[in-house]
Amino acid sequence: MSQECIFCRIINGEIATEFVYQDEQVVAFRDIAPKAPVHVLVVPRRHIPSLAHVTAEDEGVLGHMMYVARQVAEQEGVLESGFRTIVNTGPDGGQEIYHIHMHVLGGRPLGRMVSR
Ligand code: 5GP
Ligand code: ZN
Repeated sequence: MSQECIFCRIINGEIATEFVYQDEQVVAFRDIAPKAPVHVLVVPRRHIPSLAHVTAEDEGVLGHMMYVARQVAEQEGVLESGFRTIVNTGPDGGQEIYHIHMHVLGGRPLGRMVSR
């Protein structure tokens, strides 16, 4: 838990946010500034700043995040139409929030670029 981290505050219920999915390891909620009709963030409850900070002990939760992304895609009705998962890392990766998260985007053709 990081006191200044907005995602930790969301996970702790300090900032009221509807979870579209939650379990003991991760939560998922809608992005406040959606870039597509479906734009959900899959976020581990544990504060890991970025993909650059993960260690071998995080392998399990990282794999779980990808499985949850698939569950969210199904729930949001984009499993067959397709979706994109993005993990931005560090300044050049365009990361804004330093609590690791996976974007799940879909509901429209997203083009061939690997971008938001
Ligand atoms: P990043 O650039 O770090 O990969 O993505 C951070 C994402 O978090 C952005 O898409 C931004 O719109 C979203 N975001 C930032 N603050 C909040 C918030 O308070 N609530 C929600 N639901 N999303 C947020
Ligand atoms: Zn955090």
